[in-house]
Amino acid sequence: MTSEAFILDGYVDEPACLGVSPYISPYVRYCAGVCIENGFEVRYATIDQLRKTPSLLIDIEKSDLFVFIAGVTVPGKYLGGTPASSNEIFQIGSSLKNPLKCLGGPVIFGSASGGGNIAEKQAYSVYDYILKGEVSSALNSVLKSGNSYGDFSYDKIDRRSVLGSGIIKQHPKFPNVICELETARGCSRAVKGGCSFCTEYLYGMPQYRCEDGIHKEVAALYNSGAVHFRLGRQPDLLAYGTVSGEEFPRPVPEKMESLFSGIREAAPSLKTLHIDNINPGTIAKHPDESKEALESIVRWHTAGDIAAFGMESADPVVIDENNLKAMPDEILRAVEIVNEVGGIRDKNGVPHLLPGLNFVMGLCGETEKTYDLNESFLLSLLKTSLLIRRVNIRQVMPFEDTKAYSDNTIGQHETRFKIFKEKVRKEFDLPMLKRVFPFGTILEGVVTEVSGQTSFGRQLGSYPILVGFPYEISEGKVVDAFVTDWGFRSVTGFEIPLFINNLPHTAIKKLPGVGKKTAVKIIAKRPFKNLKELENVTGSLGFSEYISF
Ligand code: SF4
Repeated sequence: MTSEAFILDGYVDEPACLGVSPYISPYVRYCAGVCIENGFEVRYATIDQLRKTPSLLIDIEKSDLFVFIAGVTVPGKYLGGTPASSNEIFQIGSSLKNPLKCLGGPVIFGSASGGGNIAEKQAYSVYDYILKGEVSSALNSVLKSGNSYGDFSYDKIDRRSVLGSGIIKQHPKFPNVICELETARGCSRAVKGGCSFCTEYLYGMPQYRCEDGIHKEVAALYNSGAVHFRLGRQPDLLAYGTVSGEEFPRPVPEKMESLFSGIREAAPSLKTLHIDNINPGTIAKHPDESKEALESIVRWHTAGDIAAFGMESADPVVIDENNLKAMPDEILRAVEIVNEVGGIRDKNGVPHLLPGLNFVMGLCGETEKTYDLNESFLLSLLKTSLLIRRVNIRQVMPFEDTKAYSDNTIGQHETRFKIFKEKVRKEFDLPMLKRVFPFGTILEGVVTEVSGQTSFGRQLGSYPILVGFPYEISEGKVVDAFVTDWGFRSVTGFEIPLFINNLPHTAIKKLPGVGKKTAVKIIAKRPFKNLKELENVTGSLGFSEYISF
């Protein structure tokens, strides 16, 4: 009889890897590959599925091997899933008697209840093995020799990633899942000690995966039905394939070209190909090569993409004391270059590639003045025509082994922090959203995640904009939408086509240019046979091309 392995996805979120549903992380896919190599049949479920269906625990108990992947080392808010808490990790582990229990992922760095809290390491002694080193290799060592440490090897990862690719079909949201792809591990800034709060440099200097391995994995995932991909498992995509060993390696544009064109060849009908982290310091220090590499990305990716800049602070004192990547003038230069290359809009009006800015508060050296500087940096951007896709503000969550663990300003500027967040939402996010997604912009492939009187959905991609529909749409439906209004962090949209004869009364009132009175008239005169009949009642509508009867 074949042995069964059960992989439970407790989700991961690290500075350079996201695996919270609808993202599926490399960890679980590689571990599936190891299980298959060792003769196991693999079952996969997410922690959300287990919460919803606790009887899944009976299936886990019957399995021979239980692999739990979890760990969040950057605080975040998620719509698509809730990462496993340390309580859950304990409870699930202690309730199981039969299977060999293995726990792995960034959970080994520790956990905290959220940003602004110190992360503490846990022993998790209810598990037979804590997977250390490279997680999938550690799992293999456990199965082969009972040793829980795994050496890092991209040769093995390449093989196992292909073998384990099929588990994406077991994801509850399949085929609406995004495969997080790995191109590198470790950070080139480790050579200078890395940023004070980050766990990525603890992986050491970067090792880059060969493009052949990435392309073969993409082909295997694509053959299993994947059409959404993000190159997210690396700290700085522009550094891909460099060999210098420098803190800010000079990008090699040809590498970017062949990496991306090869992905397109491996998955010709993919729907999403996005990126994540780009080090703004790399762009500022090597503008020409960076520009060329960004042009390759824009040539092959899909629009609506974000280059996430870990800016963290506009205060030179904080930048210096925390060994951050770039000074404000360098960030500005990087923002300009990404705008120049990626600011062009696709046929739907969506910009191709825009910078996103991440701020981290509570770092050492921070004062009230830090907040003033952050605000004036952002407000000065508004005075230009530059586009910023989104601003992420979070409080540091320091981990043992990082400098921020013992040296931080957590809790010292709580009130100022709240004022800063509020000011950015109102005075920066709102006008910027209007600039990035003007009225009528079409957002294709929005997947509804919350159904109700107002339904919410997002596209599959890097930091997709939240779309609120002022009416009920069933969960999991994939729709195209056009933008009609803006919130601080979201837009209002209506489906394309817009079936005016079926739209609920409450939603009709929210159509642009349609007030309460006109809404009543529309309801009274429905059904309409064509646009002329409708516009006899409403007058000319600015979105008539989206209406259907
Ligand atoms: S540049 Fe800093 S924040 Fe980015 S991965 Fe390296 S150490 Fe972490």
